[in-house]
Parts: sequence; C-alpha cells; structure tokens
Amino acid sequence: MQDDTLETTCCVVGGGPAGIMFGYLIARAGVPVTVLEKHGDFFRDFRGDTVHPSTLEVMYELGLLEDLLKIPHQKVQEGGGRFGDFDFQAADFRHLPVHAKFIALMPQWDFLDFLSERAKQFPTFRLLMQHEVVDLTREGERVTGVVARRPGGEAVRIGAQLVVGCDGRHSAVRKAAQLQLVEFGVPIDVLWFRISRRPGDPPDVLGNANYGKFLILINRGDYFQAGMIIRKDSFEELKSRGLEHFRSSLRQVAPYLGDRVEEIQDWEPIKLLTVRLDRLRRWYRPGLLCIGDAAHAMSPAGGVGINLAIQDAVAAANILSSPLRIGSVPAQTLALVQRRREFPVRLTQAAQARIHLGLVRVFRNPGPLEAPWQLKAAMRIPGIHFALGYAIGIGVRPEHVAGVRRRSTVWRQFAFAVGVAFVSAVAVTALRRSFRCARTLL
Ligand SMILES: Cc1cc2nc3c(=O)[nH]c(=O)nc-3n(C[C@H](O)[C@H](O)[C@H](O)COP(=O)(O)OP(=O)(O)OC[C@H]3O[C@@H](n4cnc5c(N)ncnc54)[C@H](O)[C@@H]3O)c2cc1C
Repeated sequence: MQDDTLETTCCVVGGGPAGIMFGYLIARAGVPVTVLEKHGDFFRDFRGDTVHPSTLEVMYELGLLEDLLKIPHQKVQEGGGRFGDFDFQAADFRHLPVHAKFIALMPQWDFLDFLSERAKQFPTFRLLMQHEVVDLTREGERVTGVVARRPGGEAVRIGAQLVVGCDGRHSAVRKAAQLQLVEFGVPIDVLWFRISRRPGDPPDVLGNANYGKFLILINRGDYFQAGMIIRKDSFEELKSRGLEHFRSSLRQVAPYLGDRVEEIQDWEPIKLLTVRLDRLRRWYRPGLLCIGDAAHAMSPAGGVGINLAIQDAVAAANILSSPLRIGSVPAQTLALVQRRREFPVRLTQAAQARIHLGLVRVFRNPGPLEAPWQLKAAMRIPGIHFALGYAIGIGVRPEHVAGVRRRSTVWRQFAFAVGVAFVSAVAVTALRRSFRCARTLL
C-alpha cells in the first residue's frame, strides 16, 4: 500500500486542550495548521473538566466566552474543605480581576467540541480525527513532519515546518524525539466515580479529610464527581478488601453521603487515575516543540492540568505565529516558549508536591482527625481566601492572547497613573516644604 503525503505549515499532534487551543490560535493568525487526533471523538469521562478563570479569560479575549457559557456547566465560586470536624472555606474566586469569576465545570469533550467547531471557521484550520502519529520524519537533526496511521492501518506522511506535540502524558512524539523526561515520585493515585447529589448537600467543591482518607466531592448538578485519593498503587489491595469496605470508607469520611454509597455496586465505573508528575528537560528540538501534558504531566491537585495546557498553547501561539507566517522557526524561538512557561510549571508542580506530602500525613492517621492549629490560624489571615483563589484560578504568569486590548492592561495603566500621581504629589509637597524651610533659614 502506498503512503499518502500531505503538506502543512504546522502539524499539531493531539486534539486535547493544548492541541485544539494552539491550532485555533495559529489558524486565527492565518497559519495553515493540521491537528491530528487518534480518537474518533473527544469523549473521555472524568477528564480535566475544571475550566478555570484563567482559561475563561482567554475565551473572553477571543470573543468566545458568552457562547462557551451557553454550554451546560456548574459554577464554582468558592472551594473549601472539611478537616476532621473543622469546616473551612479556602479559595474564593468571586473577586478575581477577570470577567468570569468562577470555575466552570463542564465536560472536556463539550469544551473541545466547541473550540474545534469554532476553529473550523478559519480556512487554514484542518482537524483529522482517527489519525494516530506513530513516528517523526527527519532530515539530519531537524524534524520535518510525522507519520500517522489511519483506521485501516494505512499510513500518511505529513510534512511540516513545525511539529507541535500536544499528545498528552504518554506522548509518542516526545518518545520518538528522544526528549529526556524527569519524573518526580508521587505518593497518590485517584479513584474517580459518581455519586448522586441531593438538595442541601454542600454547593461547592469540598475536600473531606478524616480517618486516614481524603475524598473530593465536586458538585456536577444532580451528582457529585467524587475523587477518592488513595496511596500509590494500592487500588488492587483496596479491591481485594471488597466493595463493602470501600463503601464504609466513604461513609466514614463523608457521613452526609449516608445510604447513597450503596449506589456503588461494581468496581467497573470506578476509574483509576495513575497520578504522575514529570517534565521534559528540554521541550524542543529543531522543527519540534512539546507543550501541555506532553511537556509536563500535572497532578490533579488544584485541577490545573487543562488550564496549564491552555496557557502553554496561548504562550506558544503568541511567540510562534509570526515566525510560522514567515515559514522559519529556529530552535532559539522554540526555546523562548520553554523559557516563558517553565517557571509557572515548576512552581505549580512544587506546590502540588507539597499538597501530596499533606495527603500522606492524612493517610498515616487512621483515627479521627483534628485540624492542626496552623490550618485554623492560616484560614483567619485577611485576604488568604482571595490569594488562594488567585493562585488556583489564575495561577503564576497568566497568558493573554497577543493583540487583544485587555481590561487588566487598562487597570494596570490606571494603577500606574495613580501611582505616578501619588508619588509626584508627595515629591512636590516635599519640595515645597524644603523650599519653605530654606526661605525661612535664609
Ligand atoms: C482521569 C483524568 C482525570 C483528570 N482530571 C483533571 C481535572 O479534574 N482537572 C484538570 O485540570 N486536569 C485533570 N486531568 C489532567 C488533564 O486532563 C490534562 O492535564 C489536560 O487534559 C492536558 O491537556 P493536553 O492537551 O496537554 O493533553 P491531553 O488532554 O492528554 O490530550 C492529548 C490528546 O492527544 C491524543 N493523542 C495521544 N497520542 C496521540 C497520537 N500518537 N496521535 C494522535 N493523537 C494522540 C489523545 O487522544 C488526546 O486527545 C485529568 C487527567 C486524567 C487522565
């Protein structure tokens, strides 16, 4: 069978949040782009459904926010926890300096369907589903394209100025490019499942810690998306103890679930997320760049994975649109993307590693938990809820779509002007006083 051959300027591997957003932005800038996705649709249950204010602000800047929010979703304005019998509010998103001051919980496939449909309106955007990339093509050191397989096993070669690996935590692209991965030990895994929600249940995201267990309950309307944090690689051991033991663990850590734990009649709907924390030492090679989970797998702590992937896509598009239009992307330009995004990734992963340590302490204490005084004191610090809301909802070094006039810019200019006026007023008053003083002395 003869291979098919296609040509494009930019070939994006993977139609997840990073790939579709990057494809959208590059096509919007007039660059021919082909996105390859190995699956036939975007349907994946429990896949990063937490669309944070930083991502919603990007959608606002693209003029897509209003239509995006027509998709059914839940709004999370605050996030809190229950540590033993101590209830606390942790993050408050209601005062963030963005247009959507909440986390939108919406199925990732809805988000991707929406964005890819919008991207198709650009004549330079092409999305090829059921195309699995299996290798890279090279000329010397330079990556010149990819080899993909279609459902019947037929191969297609796609030549490109630049290949962008957005193919997630098990990236085939980074493996083929032999990019070196640094892995960090993670002591936890997560079990995701559903449990019904009743009126009167906590309205927002709630982490419950007690009796050596940690359970996250995310309000999804008529059900909770529940995440039981377990010790790494302990799922098989948990299964061997039986479903009744699992149900009673849930009841113990969140007693208000009551008889609803009986809804779990089978292990089948319980999905294991093997948590990983890693990042590439170098995100690029001549002709190739990796972003999103392909460059750095995130822990689910804080629900930031999809949002960091989007931030990478925005930064990469801002830096690469012009060079791609000219048709030349030197490796130094690709290095700028890593330089821009590595710091936020490192900081976020360090914070996630701290959270993992806290969870290990919870596992070590099988009895009723007492909230530490440090937690109680910290929750009383004025502004702490806003600061946590900012750290989770917006994060480190938020990215903005290039060329869009932003409210925050106007704010910054206003704050700058007020600052300058204030400093000038103080300086003028000081000068006047010193002149007056000098006159009296003379
Ligand atoms: C079970 C689970 C639950 C999660 N929960 C959360 C959460 O609540 N909040 C959160 O923010 N994050 C969560 N995450 C993480 C989040 O989903 C990712 O961080 C985010 O989706 C990363 O986006 P991405 O585009 O980089 O990669 P991905 O979303 O992984 O997308 C990669 C895409 O590439 C495709 N692909 C892979 N290999 C190939 C290939 N060879 N050829 C072509 N296409 C390919 C895949 O099919 C996929 O569509 C979760 C992840 C998992 C696995």
